[in-house]
Amino acid sequence: MSTEDILCKQFGISRTVFNYVTNIEKDIKEKYFEKIDKVREYNQYKVISAMQEHKLDYTHFYWNTGYGYDDAGREKAEKIFASVFHTEDALVRPSIASGTHALYLTLSSLLKHEDEVIAISGRPYDTMLTVIGEEGNEPCNLKEMGVIYKEIPLIDNDIDSESAIKAITAKTKLLMIQRSTGYSFRPALSLSKIKNAVEKIREAYPDIYIMVDNCYGEFIEEIEPSDIGADVVVGSLIKNPGGGIALSGGYVAGKKVIIDRIANRLTAPGVGKEIGLTYGTTRNTLQGLFFAPHIVSEALKGALLFGGVFSSLGFEITPTLEDDRSDIIQAIKFNNKDMVIRICEAIQASSPVDAHVSPVPWDMPGYTNEVIMASGAFVSGSSIELSADAPMRPPYIAYIQGGLFYDHAKLGVMLSLEKMMEFDEIKNKINLI
Ligand SMILES: *Cc1c(COP(=O)(O)O)cnc(C)c1O
Repeated sequence: MSTEDILCKQFGISRTVFNYVTNIEKDIKEKYFEKIDKVREYNQYKVISAMQEHKLDYTHFYWNTGYGYDDAGREKAEKIFASVFHTEDALVRPSIASGTHALYLTLSSLLKHEDEVIAISGRPYDTMLTVIGEEGNEPCNLKEMGVIYKEIPLIDNDIDSESAIKAITAKTKLLMIQRSTGYSFRPALSLSKIKNAVEKIREAYPDIYIMVDNCYGEFIEEIEPSDIGADVVVGSLIKNPGGGIALSGGYVAGKKVIIDRIANRLTAPGVGKEIGLTYGTTRNTLQGLFFAPHIVSEALKGALLFGGVFSSLGFEITPTLEDDRSDIIQAIKFNNKDMVIRICEAIQASSPVDAHVSPVPWDMPGYTNEVIMASGAFVSGSSIELSADAPMRPPYIAYIQGGLFYDHAKLGVMLSLEKMMEFDEIKNKINLI
């Protein structure tokens, strides 16, 4: 049986859809894959060299009990992350429960009563609004701590450094930048744009803290935000840097004074980084980091195929095929509720896990509209694995990300298109081309 046969017979793909996607794939491979492979290769060597530099050995995969004093693996993992991000120090732990937790820890450690934080990349990611206190009234949010919050919208998909500089007051302690798209419809901020802004701000205010929410951005480029002047970089291990292998956790990499404060907040003043059991997660965390550059490249290729196929059918996509990518997300604007639901069903149906269940829109805590989410992942909620989500509101945008292997993303693309053949406008276009 050929690959075409297995796709058509086992997964119900029609020859028409198979041929259509295969044609677009040829074009995309030619134009875009080489650049992705170059970044992948560079980052792979960067990660291996960090592991060698710190003499990683098998004993670091053992684990202790109790307080977790002298947890050799934990210390190694943190040193290796610091090397990869070129920072003085890092926190990498299963006790950091998620990306939002890592971001909250960072903000709540660095900001005191009456300090001000400014989001200079516009409205932050949904869960951050609850953290800040812009939405809801959760105990222990930053507002309750007495932190002042301001926001500078992007202009032309770029940081408005001039307005940011003007907004800074004597109380401003920290600027936050979100690299990824979130639930907006714009390309993620490239590191060159972030660098530009950071340089201008540093000229005027050399000492202000700059934090980058790096979720979905790791290993997209050969450098990270910490290489271009961010003091602290934050992300989730069930996204890019966990390579699909990390079981849970978050990371924070940055200057030593910053990491010390965050460690004291995470555990307790006086013990800081010295305690915190890893429960044997170090091997997965580091093997995940080892996998990450490759996995990110696969996810990027998958995103391009999704983008290529649906833009060819006339749907607006962001980033476009030509845009420089700064996260792994492919957003597709459908302007049609049923299409968004259909693509999420198709992605679910293409999964290795939970392929037999169907996602439905629901009221997720922390989100204003109903959201539909497709995820058939080995690690629950992992969005470096092929997944899609869409808030149920016009203009009905599906956000697709991940795919540990390009082949899997390609199956997702084919099944998506197959399911969408039920819409006459799509069917007619395909038969025309
Ligand atoms: C995913 C994400 C977060 C939050 O991460 P969780 O691990 O889901 O809590 C924050 N910011 C951005 C831009 C993200 O993509």
